[in-house]
Amino acid sequence: MTEAFVALGANLGDRLAALRGAVAALDALPETAVVASSAVYETAALVRPGAAPQPDHLNAVVGLQTRLDPPALLRALRAIERAAGREPAAERWAPRPLDLDLLLWGDDEIAGPDLTVPHPALDARRFVLVPLADVAADRVVPGLGRSVADLLDDCPDTSRVERTSARLWP
Ligand code: ADP
Ligand code: MG
Repeated sequence: MTEAFVALGANLGDRLAALRGAVAALDALPETAVVASSAVYETAALVRPGAAPQPDHLNAVVGLQTRLDPPALLRALRAIERAAGREPAAERWAPRPLDLDLLLWGDDEIAGPDLTVPHPALDARRFVLVPLADVAADRVVPGLGRSVADLLDDCPDTSRVERTSARLWP
């Protein structure tokens, strides 16, 4: 079994329903169980400089125990995104009903054409680090050699990340 952490985000449609549906879909994957969930956060969307503002995101992070391999889990994340109405070829940074990113895969580092783990933007974004710290504050991030809590302390990102009272799981 490997412990993996997945970031969830949505800024289009019924965002909370999309996150809850995604957690249920992750738990329903073969040989995979959701074992931890962060709080749900409302966060300011990143937009390309000069572009129109976008609706806020809801973001969260879940921990999984899985026997899938990383490519199989990535394919499953893509399938769950599509089932939530995500357009496969939508423009980067476009509003999306669901975004699922693989943040951590045990203590492994993975560098492939379709998959980079730890997720390359993990340490730069408070909307990832804040929920990740709910479920894995003491985890040392492979390649960076620092804990999630330390990375959050030093993160230069100042964008808005507000904890909500919504529950994702169970
Ligand atoms: P973003 O999440 O940065 O907004 P997308 O969700 O559109 O962008 O993902 C773009 C590509 O990133 C995917 O096709 C996927 O193959 C690749 N990718 C690389 N590493 C990861 C990862 N750790 N988790 C999710 N996708 C990844
Ligand atoms: Mg993504």
